[in-house]
Amino acid sequence: FALRLKATSAEVIKKLMANGVFATINDTIDFDTAVLIADEFHAKVEKEVVVTIEDRIIDDSEDDDANLVPRAPVVVVMGHVDHGKTSILDAIRHANVTAGEAGGITQHIGAYRVNIDGKDITFLDTPGHAAFTTMRARGAMVTDIAVLVVAADDGIMPQTVEAINHAKAAGVSIIVAINKMDKPAANPDLVKQQLTEYELVPEEWGGDVPCIPVSAHTKMGIDDLLEMILLVAEMKELKANPDRAAKGTVIEARLDKGRGPVATVLVQNGTLHTGDIVVAGTTVGRIRAMMNERGERVKSAGPSVPVEVTGLNEVPVGGDTFNAVSDERLARELVEQRLTEQKEEMFNSQTKVTLDNLFEQMKEGEMKELKVIVKADVQGSVEAVRQSLEKLSNDEVRVHVIHGAVGAISESDVMLANASNAIIVGFNVRPDPVAEENAKRDGVDMRLYRIIYDCIEEIESAMKGMLAPKY
Ligand code: GDP
Repeated sequence: FALRLKATSAEVIKKLMANGVFATINDTIDFDTAVLIADEFHAKVEKEVVVTIEDRIIDDSEDDDANLVPRAPVVVVMGHVDHGKTSILDAIRHANVTAGEAGGITQHIGAYRVNIDGKDITFLDTPGHAAFTTMRARGAMVTDIAVLVVAADDGIMPQTVEAINHAKAAGVSIIVAINKMDKPAANPDLVKQQLTEYELVPEEWGGDVPCIPVSAHTKMGIDDLLEMILLVAEMKELKANPDRAAKGTVIEARLDKGRGPVATVLVQNGTLHTGDIVVAGTTVGRIRAMMNERGERVKSAGPSVPVEVTGLNEVPVGGDTFNAVSDERLARELVEQRLTEQKEEMFNSQTKVTLDNLFEQMKEGEMKELKVIVKADVQGSVEAVRQSLEKLSNDEVRVHVIHGAVGAISESDVMLANASNAIIVGFNVRPDPVAEENAKRDGVDMRLYRIIYDCIEEIESAMKGMLAPKY
């Protein structure tokens, strides 16, 4: 700094002191101080602005409150297999087809909208938490509300628990649809009772989780469910700015023989127009045509609207972010840059949390919560481990078991760990082959134990930075 001012460091330090900053030659001064001192030497300091290609072509400015307007909620349907997710999605889709347009909705584009008394709801058409969490692992946060489907005659099952924990980890609002109410064996009270065991307390019992009894078969309660979704959405005050360049997420994509790469994108902010130049992940293109879920051509799509687009040069990946940009040449440069970064990332060791880097990440203040997934051979162990681990929480780091269940470590566990930056511990269980492979690929730390005490001790040492290195 002194060199630039053409002064000696002593002179600079003297001026600093005169201004009440008692710095030595080894200290760093901030920008405002530098401006002040430079002024006394009749020099001017300017902030160096590093402009990336992204900055130049992607409008990522904060939206002014004045520009924000309400947007439709984006909803995913989750739950155990055969509890009726697909049936509910179908019932909702058909409930919304008015006589005149019967047969109009035939396209599956990965998402669809329904309109209830003038208000829209966007449903993701792929039920289940796998797709949801895969997208989240890629950094995409597309959903606002999860509808958890539980069959009234079957109650909470393993994938219901997974779905609950995936939704909680993502921080989305949960609405429970207690389905198959038409069945004689339906027992909604039992379902509600079971929900409380997972910290989901029904509204009518003083909690904050709406539970709506429905039947996808008789359509009973479907309207109530839709109304509840709108109510929850209203409380969330979801907003976006339709008057800016579009950004959003690729929901699904494929190669069509005639039309080339086809992608369904969900616009999350701004408005997408035909003719727009877009970057989706590592592919570029110019939107040639857009089609809604009714197979109708549209010229523009605003916030929370899903559309199928053509015109991309390659097939993007579900979960890729996309941006409408201002310059095609720079867009291509950006894609080149992203491809290089991707390659580098594959080489570099991941920044995922592991027991070996936990302490370092804690020290750097990057790790305030150690998230853990517990799998064991018996429920008793799951609970014992959960309690002992959570007791290890201290002022620096909270230990939080985000999912615990009986059974082998599955693909879904690894996916959740990957999306949530969690570690997985297993007791007397093994990962299945796919899970093992994916954990390796994604850099998810997976530890297997036979004795609970060993696990507690290892994690405790890791938190103190005293874990013996593994050779
Ligand atoms: P998913 O695996 O969760 O998508 O479940 P599906 O929607 O495929 O439904 C599984 C089975 O449950 C199918 O045989 C459906 O016909 C049946 N089912 C779904 N909803 C209802 C309902 O409300 N009542 C009755 N009785 N059966 C239902």
